[in-house]
Amino acid sequence: SLNAVATLGAAEGHELEVAAGEAQVAEALAAIEALAARDFDEVPTSSEVPERPVPTAGPTPEGVVRGFAASPGIAIGAVRRCHVPALAIDRDAADDPRAETDSLDAALAATAEAVHLQRDAVAARAGETEAGIFDAHLLFLRDEALLAPARRAIHAEGRSAARAWRDAIDHTAAAWDGLEDEYLRARADDLRSVGAQVLARLLGVAQPHARIDEAGVLVAADLTPADTAGLDPALVRGIATARGGPTSHAAVLARALGIPAVVGLGEAALELLEGSTVAVDGRSGDLYVDPSPSDVARLETEAAALAAARALAREGADGAAVTRDGIVVEVAANVGGPAEVPAAVESGADGVGLFRTEFLFMGRDRMPDEDKQEAAYRAAAEALAGRPLLIRTLDAGADKPLPYLGQAHEENPFLGVRGVRLGLAQPEMLEAQLRAILRVAADHPVRVMFPMVATRDELRRAREVLERARLAADARLEVGIMIEVPAAALAAHALAAECDFFSIGTNDLTQYALAADRGNERVAALTDALHPAVLSLIHSAVVGARARGRWVGVCGELAGDAAATPLLIGLGVRELSMSAPAIAGVKQAVRATDAGEAGALAERALACADAGEVRALLAAP
Ligand code: PEP
Ligand code: MG
Repeated sequence: SLNAVATLGAAEGHELEVAAGEAQVAEALAAIEALAARDFDEVPTSSEVPERPVPTAGPTPEGVVRGFAASPGIAIGAVRRCHVPALAIDRDAADDPRAETDSLDAALAATAEAVHLQRDAVAARAGETEAGIFDAHLLFLRDEALLAPARRAIHAEGRSAARAWRDAIDHTAAAWDGLEDEYLRARADDLRSVGAQVLARLLGVAQPHARIDEAGVLVAADLTPADTAGLDPALVRGIATARGGPTSHAAVLARALGIPAVVGLGEAALELLEGSTVAVDGRSGDLYVDPSPSDVARLETEAAALAAARALAREGADGAAVTRDGIVVEVAANVGGPAEVPAAVESGADGVGLFRTEFLFMGRDRMPDEDKQEAAYRAAAEALAGRPLLIRTLDAGADKPLPYLGQAHEENPFLGVRGVRLGLAQPEMLEAQLRAILRVAADHPVRVMFPMVATRDELRRAREVLERARLAADARLEVGIMIEVPAAALAAHALAAECDFFSIGTNDLTQYALAADRGNERVAALTDALHPAVLSLIHSAVVGARARGRWVGVCGELAGDAAATPLLIGLGVRELSMSAPAIAGVKQAVRATDAGEAGALAERALACADAGEVRALLAAP
């Protein structure tokens, strides 16, 4: 029993005496002895974790942990670890113990299946060591130290399964809470989190998201996209995570929410004490632990300067973004749901250039039906008041799994059934979504695009599903694809012949071009969208599109980097879509650009050897 062993509170140097009784005494003792001789199969972390690349030049100052800049801004506050809020139990007692035991078993099995899926996704993304935490979760789910008292409470005391399970979790978590070791004490959160997943299933409610109750800097091992989407920006002043890269979906969402964030800080982030003070510098990727008064004063001055610069940019954010030589560039917002649209309009968005619809599908136990989807798309379109709304069809799979889609295990989920491949594998789901989109397109300027298209055949098949959807709801709308797969960028001429526009997803395009997982901090330094190879793919996509008179936008994170604006314009991009807080700065950058000069700049960038050279070129006056 993981719970029984860990709550002994044994620490390094303690001596353990193991006694065995009943069956298989000799085997049990021999197995434990062998395990001890193998050091409990622990892998020394120093050899396991390769040196992380240092993102900024120079040595790391004392008291600073260096990670990756994930969302600009500065936040100073108390460390807050997130926890899963308690669920209300509908009934304490039950008459039919058998039925209660059955539902507990079913909830445990379903949770174990979901944890397995998460485990596989993390193992594929970050390695077996990182996935180890999920093995502990699986052990919890079959630990007799929890199951026996829960079953006893159901049979002997007439408890409902939900009450019996909650009591067993609370009792055991309290034992973890009482441990001396800080690290082990924090593991009570793991137990509570997996316990809450079972409870949510027993109660038939959506799984609660991690949250914090007091204002401060949220510190976590990693955040799922669903967790990040559920954060309250009024409480979460900043985010610091041990894992993840700067274009992971958690980082993308932090930018959308305007919350300063650093990611990929390594295990040091997990050792921070609740309530201690930290400062997050989301521009450099630095985390200050117990910052000195002089650091605090400096960071506060810089934060004030940043706020002033933003306010200045905001003043000009409403008008169109036109280059010095008269080229109009549409500057739009990326959103994850209709609730974000008013703030996007307020930030000066000319429209929505990427509606990531998968967030409507997350954190639930079944797919939202067509009416619910239509209501969400309609609300977004109405909030845009005539500005264009570009809806991307469901982009689930890989790091955004939806447990209810019943996807099979994959060794390499990022190279597996994700994006449009999933839509084509489950065409009724895609068709329902397209009907909901078409209904809204009848009344509003709507564009639709398919994610992760690799081949012309996929585009054709997706368009066939669209034509079937039209039989139920007909409307005119522009149809495009995301360019995220290098093959699509290189064969753009063939794809451009069969759609109206391209939107380049530089996050995925970069991870596939550089063969570096966007969610893995160990290779984060490689996932730089300014690498000339990525620029060359963008160039190829634009050349293919232009030959057919199609327009090209960028909706990956590169679009929100004002330093890259002239380069993208020079490459021929005419629409940029980004997190709302970046809009004002990018509009300023568009107005400062001459498209002719930018073309020459793009040519020089394409000839650079690496991302560093491109960056230097962009920084040159
Ligand atoms: C991208 O890949 O660049 C993109 C915009 O899509 P997402 O970040 O949602 O994968
Ligand atoms: Mg993508």
